[in-house]
Amino acid sequence: MTVEMALETRALTKRYRRGKPALENVTLGVPVGAFVALVGPNGAGKSTLIRTFLGFERPTAGSAHVLGIDVRRDTPRALAQLGYVGQTPGIYTVLTARHHIEMAAELRPGFDVDAALRRLAAAGLPDDRPAGQLSGGQQAQLALTLALGTRAPVLLLDEPLASLDPLARRDFLDTVAEAVAGGTTVLLASHIVGDLDGACDRLIVLAPGRVQLDADMSWARAHHRLVPLADAAGMDLVGSFANRRGVHTALVRTEDPVADPPRLDDIVLGYLAAGRRPEGAA
Ligand code: ADP
Repeated sequence: MTVEMALETRALTKRYRRGKPALENVTLGVPVGAFVALVGPNGAGKSTLIRTFLGFERPTAGSAHVLGIDVRRDTPRALAQLGYVGQTPGIYTVLTARHHIEMAAELRPGFDVDAALRRLAAAGLPDDRPAGQLSGGQQAQLALTLALGTRAPVLLLDEPLASLDPLARRDFLDTVAEAVAGGTTVLLASHIVGDLDGACDRLIVLAPGRVQLDADMSWARAHHRLVPLADAAGMDLVGSFANRRGVHTALVRTEDPVADPPRLDDIVLGYLAAGRRPEGAA
């Protein structure tokens, strides 16, 4: 059975004018209905990947598809499938939340004004105050409300959590999880990994420009183990790093499922340390 892909790249390379490519030969897929965490350090290429799906960046080589639509060939049709929240919420400080919703309804055919207003109320957001007076968490919720109001089947979220406090991050992720439960596909870029444990069902680790891991979260958790680096000889080593006490720890892959899976941030650390792609990640 072939899984339908909401987002797909094939051998995607993006080279800006100077230096190393921001993305190098990236092939990945986000299945329809999945909630995928796109994790990597600053400069890993997360924004470049998201901006490529939006048609804002032109691939140097390779392709990007949104629900089977080649972004390069038909950018407007691909864009119509996408909702987007960027690193800064992209709101107008002098306009109220209601004004934002009215404006979105004019700009985007099919925008669901009633659902957006209901979501504002459910999130406890005042619709009559200038958005500049809302807290950072409320501004992020407004941006998410606008993205969800488009009723786009696929949401691209580019580090929306970075400037939020833990409570606001949880509220934001809860709203995203509701959208996923309603059938929306989500690709969420983040370098804050801890929050995503238990929230996402797939994990893509990008480390400078290359895919290090693209796997089901449950597979990733079940098939990795932390061991002291000194004991890792003969094991399927992913990468090693010094833990908080300065002890060198290795992340290894295991054939058999492990009883005590490592934390998500340790899995990510291992792959970031490795810079190599595992074969056969499911
Ligand atoms: P991330 O979102 O993971 O932080 P980016 O996609 O923003 O990573 O950046 C990946 C690399 O591409 C970085 O080295 C960055 O400096 C470079 N880059 C991003 N945008 C541009 C641009 N418009 N012009 C030149 N280089 C860029």
